[in-house]
Amino acid sequence: MSHECIFCKIAEGKIPAKIIYQDTDIVAFHDINPQAPVHFLIIPRKHLKNLLDVKDVDAYVLAKMLMVASDIAGQLNIANEGYRVVINTNRQAGQSVDHLHIHVLGGRTMEWPPG
Ligand code: AMP
Repeated sequence: MSHECIFCKIAEGKIPAKIIYQDTDIVAFHDINPQAPVHFLIIPRKHLKNLLDVKDVDAYVLAKMLMVASDIAGQLNIANEGYRVVINTNRQAGQSVDHLHIHVLGGRTMEWPPG
């Protein structure tokens, strides 16, 4: 846990978030500044800065994050039309919160390649 990390605080229930799902490994919650009609984040409870921090021991949790992303996408009715999973890694890619998170976006048409 990192004392200054906003996502650690969300995982610990110390600051509020619109939680969709949580278990002993991960937490999913709605993004506070949604970029699509449906936009939620999934984080590991373990403080990892980003994908560059992931080690073999984290593989199970990373896989679970992706599988839960699909489950929630189905529950929120964006799976059939299509949804996008994004992991911004470091600043030039747009990472602003230094706790690994996957974005799941859906409910609108998206451009490819992204801007
Ligand atoms: P990134 O720019 O990839 O690091 O994504 C960070 C995301 O976290 C942004 O989409 C923010 O809107 C979102 N965010 C920041 N603070 C909160 C919060 N307290 N609750 C929910 N989402 C947040």
